[in-house]
Amino acid sequence: MTIIAALLAASSSALAVAEGAPGASGLDGRVAAVKQRVVDWRRDIHQHPELSGQEARTAAMVAAHLKSLGMEVTTGVGGHGVVALLKGGQPGKVVALRADMDALPIAEATGLPFASRAVARHMGKDTPVMHGCGHDAHTAILMGVAEVLAGMKDQIQGTVKFIFQPAEEGFSEAPVKPGQLWGARAMIAEGVMDKPKVDAIFGLHISSMIPTGVIGWRSGPTMAGSDSLRIQVNGRQTHGAMPWAGVDPIVTSAQMITALQTVVSRQLNISTQPAVLSIGAINGGNRENIVPESVEMLGTLRTYDETMRADAKKRIQLIAQSTAAANGAKAEVSFGPSEYSVTVNDAKLTARTVPLLRSAAQTVEIPLVTGSEDFSEFQKIAPGFFFMLGGKPKDREVGPNHSPRFDFDEAALGIGVKSLTLAALGYLNGQ
Ligand SMILES: [Zn+2]
Ligand SMILES: [Zn+2]
Repeated sequence: MTIIAALLAASSSALAVAEGAPGASGLDGRVAAVKQRVVDWRRDIHQHPELSGQEARTAAMVAAHLKSLGMEVTTGVGGHGVVALLKGGQPGKVVALRADMDALPIAEATGLPFASRAVARHMGKDTPVMHGCGHDAHTAILMGVAEVLAGMKDQIQGTVKFIFQPAEEGFSEAPVKPGQLWGARAMIAEGVMDKPKVDAIFGLHISSMIPTGVIGWRSGPTMAGSDSLRIQVNGRQTHGAMPWAGVDPIVTSAQMITALQTVVSRQLNISTQPAVLSIGAINGGNRENIVPESVEMLGTLRTYDETMRADAKKRIQLIAQSTAAANGAKAEVSFGPSEYSVTVNDAKLTARTVPLLRSAAQTVEIPLVTGSEDFSEFQKIAPGFFFMLGGKPKDREVGPNHSPRFDFDEAALGIGVKSLTLAALGYLNGQ
């Protein structure tokens, strides 16, 4: 927050620059007309959150709304994904707008009158569920955008594809089969970026750390690539008094953890992009005088460049296997199941879109975001721009994303509707 505040103080731009997207006249009235319903949708979705892969109710609500607007709607795309097409009155390109719909296994502690009391199965256990990442906002905003753009159909040069995506946060059911796809990747595998082929894609994320009325943006790498990591060190169990009779995976793991820290500090060129490697769990052994058979370590790798990400993974593997070999042990290294690519905003698309957003909010260039997004998958196929929608309330403290106290200022919802509409119209009508 301090960084954002400093950036804001340093920013000379005034709140609104009267620069809209071509064809955006009358937009304020249309956004104002839908605003209260966006708030109502958000509260309804918030009160009925659904875990990743379980978004049946939300998807049905979205599909019914899109059908009521006269759009061609496809349901069940990559799970509970919903896709709709709005064909403009004039020919042109295809722009996609994406919102994610899933909630998290969190017990809500906001005290809101529409707080969730939902419980659902998460990894085989009944767990409280909450929209702790604001995907309720994203879904409601995109429903609002669909209504606004449907009302301006004749002025649109091209086609708008609405993508309501399930399972952005991963998965909620165990076991995960090897190679199982979810979220953006599952929708892409089912052709969401084809027929018609998407030329550009936009998305946003609500933030409770950025003030309401501000849009945070970056060009190029924006959100981290993220890989979960598991290393199993296999030794040979023996008596703690006779270590020479076995192979010690505990001492091997200690050397490995230290050596792994040299991937970032000594081996990657962190003058180009930062990287983080953390081992967050280490488990092995059950009493003082037994050298165990094996040790398991779990960790996370964060990167901002795909080449660096691939290189870091190779080096992690090499260090783990070489350190194990030097001790007479063996290391099994695996990445995933949590894997997110780097969210990279297309430089040209960013440069032409940011000025348009200034008639919706103050735009502020933000530092790299350490969180991850599977919006990155769409950006591998078409140029994309993903931005942060400020929603920090002025008058109360709220938690960050994924906190049980996460909430945001609902005044951000209308700004979200306007900004995504401007991005779409600017792209299609500004060719
Ligand atoms: Zn999240
Ligand atoms: Zn999220």
